[in-house]
Order: sequence, then C-alpha cells, then structure tokens
Amino acid sequence: MSKGTVSINAENIMPVIKQWLYSDKDIFVRELVTNGCDAISKYRWLVSNGKAELDESPERIDVIADKEQGTLTFIDNGIGMTEEEIVKYIAQVAFSGATDFITKYTEESKDQGAGIIGHFGLGFYSAFMVSDKVVIDSKSYTDAPAVRWTSEDGMEYEIEPSDRAERGTAITLYIDEEDKDFLNLWTLRKTLEKHCAFMPVPIFVSEVTKPEEPKEGEEPKKPAEPQQINDTHPLWMKRPNECTDEEYKEFYRKVFNDFEEPLFWIHLNAEYPFNLKGILYFPRIKNEFTASEGVIKLYNNQVFVADNIKEVIPEFLLLLKGCVDCPDLPLNVSRSFLQNDGYVKKMAAYITRKVADRLVTEFNTKREDYQRYWDDIHPFVKYGCIKDEKFYERVKPALIYKTTSGEYVTLEEYLNRNCEGEENKTVYYASDEKRQAQMIRLYTDQGKDVILLDTLIDNNFISFLEYSERDGKISFKRVDAAADSLTEEGEISEDARKKLEGLFRKAMADEQVDVQLKPFKDEGLIAMITVDEQNRRFTEMSSRWGGPDMKLPEKRTLVLNDKHPLVKWLKDAEENEHTETVCAQVADLAEMARQPLVADRMVDFLKRSNQLLTELIGK
Ligand code: ADP
Repeated sequence: MSKGTVSINAENIMPVIKQWLYSDKDIFVRELVTNGCDAISKYRWLVSNGKAELDESPERIDVIADKEQGTLTFIDNGIGMTEEEIVKYIAQVAFSGATDFITKYTEESKDQGAGIIGHFGLGFYSAFMVSDKVVIDSKSYTDAPAVRWTSEDGMEYEIEPSDRAERGTAITLYIDEEDKDFLNLWTLRKTLEKHCAFMPVPIFVSEVTKPEEPKEGEEPKKPAEPQQINDTHPLWMKRPNECTDEEYKEFYRKVFNDFEEPLFWIHLNAEYPFNLKGILYFPRIKNEFTASEGVIKLYNNQVFVADNIKEVIPEFLLLLKGCVDCPDLPLNVSRSFLQNDGYVKKMAAYITRKVADRLVTEFNTKREDYQRYWDDIHPFVKYGCIKDEKFYERVKPALIYKTTSGEYVTLEEYLNRNCEGEENKTVYYASDEKRQAQMIRLYTDQGKDVILLDTLIDNNFISFLEYSERDGKISFKRVDAAADSLTEEGEISEDARKKLEGLFRKAMADEQVDVQLKPFKDEGLIAMITVDEQNRRFTEMSSRWGGPDMKLPEKRTLVLNDKHPLVKWLKDAEENEHTETVCAQVADLAEMARQPLVADRMVDFLKRSNQLLTELIGK
C-alpha cells in the first residue's frame, strides 16, 4: 500500500467545489456518470482505432445503492485507469486527464477527440460533497493490475491492489449522514432522470437487497432487475426527416409530462456556424395565467445542464417547451460570461430566427391550421415582437387578427379591405365582444371589419405596432374611441352645439364631457359616447401594472346624431319639463352601449324608465 497527498491545487479547488455545489448538491451524480460515459467513449475510440481489443461486454453504467452498507456505487466498463493514471488524473486534479488523453493521441484524434473531453472540470471531486469516504476500483484496458484508491477528504489518499476483474471503474461513495436520502432508490432515480435522462450510454439503477428467506414451498424471490433510466438516442439527435409526428408527440409527453398535445414544433439542427440541435414545442396554452410555464432544457452533448437559461435562450422563447443541445457552449462558466459572449448571442439570434421562420412557413403553407393555433400562440408571438424587434421584422407576414365575424386577416389584408386610399389608416378593434356588441354593429353595418384584441398583451402590442409602423400612418382605435368613420360631413352650427352641450352637462351633472353634433350614417342612432384612445390605453396600462396614481381622467365625448328627430327637437324646441329627462335618458343609453352603468346611475335610469313607461300609457 502506498500513501500520498493530492497536489496542492486540490486545496484550492475543494472550497470552490463546496461553494459551487452548495445550491445544487445532486450534481455529483451528473459528474460521476459523465466521467463513466467519457471513459466508455474513450474505450470505444481506442477500439475503433485499433488501439484496444474489443470484448463483447455491452457498454453500460450501473448506479447501485446499498442502504445497509451506506454506499452508492457508480460502475462503468470504460477505459479504466492504471495506478499511474489514477495518481495523475485523479490526484493531480489541476490537470485535466482528457487533455492528456488528447495530446497522447493527437494525430488520430483530431476529429473525434474534442468531443470526448470531460466538460465539467471539477467533476470527480464533487463526490466528496456527499461522502465520508470515496473508493475507486479500476482496471485499465491495458494489462496493468487493478488498483484501489481510497480517500476520506479528497486530499490524502491510499493506494493498494484491487480485486476488480473487469475492465472499467467502480467508484464507491460512503454517503455521509446528512445525505443519506441519496440511498433511497426513488431519490436516486429522480436525480438520475433529471441529469442523465439522455446520456449516450445506457444507465441502470438498482439497489442491493437482502434476499428474503423463501417461505416453505415457495420459489425464492428474485432481486429486482436494474432499470435503465435513460434514452440514449434522444429525438433531437435524429435527422428531422427521419422523425414522425407520433415520435415528436411521444417525446413531448415523456419529457414534459404534458398530456395536452403540442400545437407544433421546430426541430433545430445546425452544424454551421455552430453546432446546435434541439426541438422546440409550442404548447397549448390553457389560459393566460399558465402562459409562462414553458421550460427549455439545455444540454451539452446529451448531458443536462440547466433549465431556462435566459442568457442562451431569448427570454420570450422560454414560454415554449423544448430541449436544446449545444455541445460547444462553455456552460460551466458563469452566467455573466454567457451574457456577454458573442457566440451565445449569435446562437440566441439563430434560435429566434428559426422560430420566426417556422411561424411564417406554417402561415404560408397551412394557413387554416395556423389560424386554428393562433388563439393559443398569439400572446407569445406578440410578446416576442415587443421584446425583440428582429423577431418582429421576421414574423411580421404571419401576424394575423381575428375579426368579429370569425375571419383571420393580416394587417395588410385589413388595410386593403377597409382603408383603401386613406392617408391615415385606422384599424378598429373591440376588447370585449359581448359588451361592445352594439358599438361593433355600428361598424359592421357600414361594412367595416372590427378585429378582436382581448388579451393582456394587446394594449402594449398595438402601441408597439403604431410606433414600428409609424411611416405607414396606422393607428388602432377601439370601437368606442371615435365616431369619425360612422358620421358624414355636414355643416353644424356652433350655437346649436353649445346649446346641447349646456343641456347635457346639466342633465348628466358632468362638467367634463364634451358634446359634439354630427350627422351619423346610421339614422336610427341617437348618440354615442367616445373615449379618447390614448388616454384610455394609458390608464389601463398603468392600473394593470400597478400604478393607480397615474390614472388620467377619461376624455369623454358625447356625439349626438344631428339627423335624429330627438336631437333635432332638443336643438330647436324651447326647453320644457321634458328636456332634462330626455337628455338624461339619451346620455344613459349611450353610456350603456359601451359599458354597464355605475350603481347610482343605474338606479336613476331604472326609475326614470319606469316613469316614462307609465307616462306612455297616460297614467
Ligand atoms: P474531467 O472529467 O473534467 O477531466 P474529473 O475530475 O471528473 O475531471 O476527472 C479527472 C480525470 O479522471 C478524467 O479526465 C479521467 O481521465 C479520469 N477519470 C475520472 N473518472 C473516470 C472513470 N470513471 N474512468 C476512467 N477515467 C476516469
């Protein structure tokens, strides 16, 4: 037996590991399994390059919990290590064994070598985060005798011969008191599934159980078979043209535990200018509150790295669900580094572009299907436009709007149909189809389309559109924002207007309301209330985002139909005992066409209506 101390660098490294793992202890599982995978692919490489004999044992990694012994063992049948290699690679942690491996076979490994390097640097030592003692038993693929390395603190170690007979390495962790939970098969399984679900070598989990004494006359029970926890060929590694819809859906169900079918998906498959594979799914969004429940899992060569890394995946895409595998990303570095990395930025831009292009293709080639998804995906698309101008520019041709008659139109189609030849183009919309039904009718009766914008994001989105498309002089107005397109040109006397303004202000007890007099195209309409669009939007936005102090007074206008007999009467007749009743009733009816009356006003309205009915029959 020989003793040694790990090179001085370990003392510097241990505190780093401890700090690093503090928040995410279970990472040791990933590190040890990854090392096993690397060892196996190194062996595979040696075989394929004629440096080692192939034996028939199929590649595998076993993770075995033994509650009685308090141990967790990771076994691989990879390249194994000789005594010198253990001392060098494990003990002198400052070196990365992988680098050495690559240099040793420089010539042959030019192409494949880079892929075999362990990605996480601090790897093996993470075992000490959960262990009182760690034992390595390893047998190299060479003739060197098997060797055992034991250490309690990661610093001092002993080396002695091992009785390991098969090629490969077994790493046994004597789990400390605090971390005994890892010996539970369920916990262990969950941890492995989290980090290793798609690693490229089959991984089996099992626990050592004491064989029960068979009862008389019964067959002895067999110990449970080790179960494979991973899928070594995740769908994203396949070529898109080799995957079926059923496979995509099945993969989605399995990975995201979502039994709602995804709407559609994008298979990312880039080799140049960077290596990137993945599948992004558009989930069916049940309501706006669950809209932010997407998850994008990031992998590095099939090794799980993290969920939802904003620095790599553009934030608005985090509403999607998916897996993205980027073998070239320096994912073990700090997030602030990723944020400023040009490569990462380009990759994020690439993903954004792909998503936009896919939406446009869906729209161009399967418009009907696309229209069906639109109600589910539009909040996401609109959010993306606001967040990222480039995304907007690209996805623009596929932005559509649902009209109140159930059609879907692009902005261009809307403008062609409704604003032909107009310099300032107005898109009319409703935010509540039921409540604004009466106002909507005023437009549709004139042959104008009204689109529906009824989600939280729409206010911001149309303000964004008006700004982005300012050269096109497009504005959005809610059906109660202006009466312009419902009225005709006509001379109106200012005196008459003033008179009516006086009467209505008195009847409504409202000094703020403006009164206008206009001939409406619809002769039967008496009056409508309009509310300034920008003021209303601003008030809605500020109250929605929590600023009640910012409330602007509504700029309201009562527009009276100059053609209507009642209005004519008010204009021409002397004021009498009915004037105020008529004004109050007209104002209330106009208000009710756009929103319910406030309680007091409702009480007055009902009382007045009852009186009018009673008078009607002369009682
Ligand atoms: P990294 O994997 O980043 O190089 P580690 O600390 O995890 O860092 O491992 C150091 C080195 O020890 C590896 O590069 C490899 O040479 C060797 N090693 C670790 N685990 C194994 C294993 N299971 N089989 C063979 N070699 C291993």
